Amino acid sequence: MLLFWFVWLVLSLRFKQGMSANEFSALSTLAYPSWGHYPEYRPKNILQYPWSFSEVDFNAAPYLAYGKGRSYGDSCLNKDGVLIHSSQLNHILYFDTDNGVIRCEAGVTFDDLLSVIVAAGWFLPVTPGTRFITVAGAVANDVHGKNHHAVGSFGNHITAFELKRSDGQTRVCTPDNENKELFAATIGGLGLTGFITWVEFRLKRISNAYVTTSTTPFSSVSDFFELDNLNLDKHEYTVAWIDTTSRSGQIGRGLYFSGEHAKEHSVKNTKHHKKQRSLNLPVNFPNFALNALTVKAFNVLYFNHHKNKHGHALTHYAPFFYPLDNIENWNRMYGKRGFLQHQCVVPLRDGKEVISEILKRVSASGMASFLSVLKRFGNIPSIGMMSFPREGYTLALDFPNNGKRTFTFLNELDTLVRSVNGAIYPAKDARMSAETFAVSYPRLESFKNYIDPAFSSSFWRRVTQQQAV
Ligand SMILES: Cc1cc2nc3c(=O)[nH]c(=O)nc-3n(C[C@H](O)[C@H](O)[C@H](O)COP(=O)(O)OP(=O)(O)OC[C@H]3O[C@@H](n4cnc5c(N)ncnc54)[C@H](O)[C@@H]3O)c2cc1C
Repeated sequence: MLLFWFVWLVLSLRFKQGMSANEFSALSTLAYPSWGHYPEYRPKNILQYPWSFSEVDFNAAPYLAYGKGRSYGDSCLNKDGVLIHSSQLNHILYFDTDNGVIRCEAGVTFDDLLSVIVAAGWFLPVTPGTRFITVAGAVANDVHGKNHHAVGSFGNHITAFELKRSDGQTRVCTPDNENKELFAATIGGLGLTGFITWVEFRLKRISNAYVTTSTTPFSSVSDFFELDNLNLDKHEYTVAWIDTTSRSGQIGRGLYFSGEHAKEHSVKNTKHHKKQRSLNLPVNFPNFALNALTVKAFNVLYFNHHKNKHGHALTHYAPFFYPLDNIENWNRMYGKRGFLQHQCVVPLRDGKEVISEILKRVSASGMASFLSVLKRFGNIPSIGMMSFPREGYTLALDFPNNGKRTFTFLNELDTLVRSVNGAIYPAKDARMSAETFAVSYPRLESFKNYIDPAFSSSFWRRVTQQQAV
């Protein structure tokens, strides 16, 4: 099986060299998919903001903005509705290089920003595990990074943004003065409060493009909790990778990564921005390629590789923050049926038991999660009414979509999360129930007052049990 997988990978990569870009895009299943390729919903129409925005007839709703489709499930999809694409909004409007304040249009990506700000001695205040997202997408999901315990989520660093509403009005929103309720509703507001046109936020000062990192293996989930207690406050960035295929006494073993931006004197050759991508998966793997055996083989290899290399290193920011961005379209490895991510947060008090129980169940089920990440969120409150980050432990698991079996299992995990008043992350979700959503977001009813009536998403209709259009 492994051999087949390997041969497939090599052939796929070779195959790419002989084909044109158009042929490749024709091979992709959908022009505007979500990252998990599940569900696959087509919009009725796609408009480019601002070029075709004049065509907008808000009576023909629902509308939804689309960034780079890096959300995993249906929160960036609008089945039979209209998607408003922000890719033409790709300008930096203002950059105060002395004070580290930047204002940019909604469709500017984190990758675009890094190519400008790092050379000027600044970094993103918060970044998720991919740099191929837009700033407006980062607002709408109030994204978090490896430094949540130190600085909170992206919304905590926003100074202003502009929102276009279907009543024809344009509103500037700030945290303390102008439209501050709309500000709080839009951060983590899932794109439902209107179309963001630009965002202004504060950057973080750095000396160079490098990070001093440390990798520590741990042999069970209880060791993770100990290690994390010792390390969290000492490091700016922390995250753990978990081997979900390990069994018995080693359940939840993994690698603890920590880091901070390097001081000036520790770096001789500085390369500000790295174009990191070197591989592309041009076509979907066959559905059976990722199975319990191949995932286990990968996990064992990955764990042992890092275990033997553990210690300190000086690393460019790109592989530290964005290890997956190295392989373009890596999501195709899950096959045509796509995959589901389950990301929960559970409060600190009950977190250890619930996280341990989830990992036990994953191990016992044989439903190996390929990429599994565990991190502690700190106690800085999120600004957004619907923000996912809150104090506790957050665990993200990826499962190939094997139909009913996968869905039943993920519902079981939801029940565990709900039992301790935890929450599931909408940006990663394609299947949580309306009940789970409602208990995950206690400010849901107040949030509804700020939704733009012309905006909706497939996710929203699913979790509020509204009829599809
Ligand atoms: C490899 C990988 C790693 C990730 N790691 C993390 C992580 O560590 N932490 C984390 O928090 N997330 C993580 N994510 C999820 C990702 O950061 C979020 O889903 C992000 O919001 C995607 O941004 P996007 O630009 O692709 O937006 P899309 O996915 O296209 O849209 C996301 C939401 O933004 C809204 N939106 C987009 N543009 C606008 C606009 N102009 N106005 C109003 N609303 C708008 C959409 O309507 C939608 O609701 C990861 C995703 C991937 C693929």
